[in-house]
Amino acid sequence: MPIGYNLLRVTIDLEAIRDNYRFLCSRGTALIPVIKSDAYGHGLIPVAKALEECGADCFAVGTVGEAARLRQEAGREVRGTVLALLGPQSSEDCRIAVEENILPVTARLDQLRDLQEAARHAERPTPIALKFDTGMARLGFGPDDAGRVLEVLSQCPLLRPQWLLSHLATADDPGQADFTREQAARFRRVRDHFTAAWPGLRCSLVNSAGLLAFPDLTWDRQRPGIALYGANPFHSTELAHLGRDLRPAMRVQAPVLAVHPLAKGASISYGRTYVADQDKTVAVVAAGYADAFSRGLSNTGWILLRGQRAKILGRVCMQMTAVDVTHVPGVAPGDQAVLLGSDGEASITPEDLSSWWGTIPYEVFCLLGMNPREYVASTKTGQGESHHNR
Ligand SMILES: *Cc1c(COP(=O)(O)O)cnc(C)c1O
Repeated sequence: MPIGYNLLRVTIDLEAIRDNYRFLCSRGTALIPVIKSDAYGHGLIPVAKALEECGADCFAVGTVGEAARLRQEAGREVRGTVLALLGPQSSEDCRIAVEENILPVTARLDQLRDLQEAARHAERPTPIALKFDTGMARLGFGPDDAGRVLEVLSQCPLLRPQWLLSHLATADDPGQADFTREQAARFRRVRDHFTAAWPGLRCSLVNSAGLLAFPDLTWDRQRPGIALYGANPFHSTELAHLGRDLRPAMRVQAPVLAVHPLAKGASISYGRTYVADQDKTVAVVAAGYADAFSRGLSNTGWILLRGQRAKILGRVCMQMTAVDVTHVPGVAPGDQAVLLGSDGEASITPEDLSSWWGTIPYEVFCLLGMNPREYVASTKTGQGESHHNR
């Protein structure tokens, strides 16, 4: 999709992200903010700079390429440590990690050997992070591999393990707290094994949900992602109050293209999946699946117009979606519909939109965030200087 030709606009409130960061810090712990995947669609560079302004000195991104982009594009403004969670995937990645001062997260023995080789070539000691799998079964050395990892490290004299990481699978599910504690126990055993050889090793286990719900499982640093962007990891669970103070930072709008009557018995959009059960007024909004406004929202989702909810009628198209505005007086072409965020008293939360969409706020943010974005100082008042930044 040639980004920039669509009419949908994403607005990011960096102050909300900073508020969320300060709220998470107020839980008494130091953080490694997770800004992978373009800061969950909120913008890698602007988010890193905003967080650095309020004290962040260590960030986690996904690929080595993303980390290099943060190092290069943010210039001297972002000085902190940058972890690449997915780790180096080639000797080129290893070279970049060593030269750009990126902290690679390693989860395989071949990565240790390749990094040692790159470090030797650059004649430079290289800090690394070690990731252990304690139950996610995704990336990481196995808990029983600790001995073998130490043995290979002893053959890699330029590698300096600084961090020990693991990742929780069920921290956002109060019903599976036992599994979280099991993971934590495995993590503790791995740590005990390593700190004998590397006493300065720092540890990080918890994500947003772990940070909020398991204060006793926090180590040197915590790794929140989704909470920074204002989604509540405990939405609709008995722990929902833990994320009550988080403020969503993404707002999505698109203009109305047409308003017209739809007579009782008439259908609308492809496949005629909606037929009016009474005389209706519909508005056609410039948002469709090409803007990452999912076709899965056909006949199910809602948007806001003039401060009221309007239901999606019929199929979501590539660049357009029709909504029912029979109950909303005065809707006219040019009005801005709100697809995510608030409009007067009404709002569509990330949790609302993702539930209609059949997914989670993470995916909604990542996908909608691929559209052109604007940044505002604050949407608390609905005002603030805005500028384009991509
Ligand atoms: C994405 C990610 C996080 C952040 O998780 P949230 O649920 O968004 O807080 C933390 N650690 C690792 C390794 C991750 O991949």
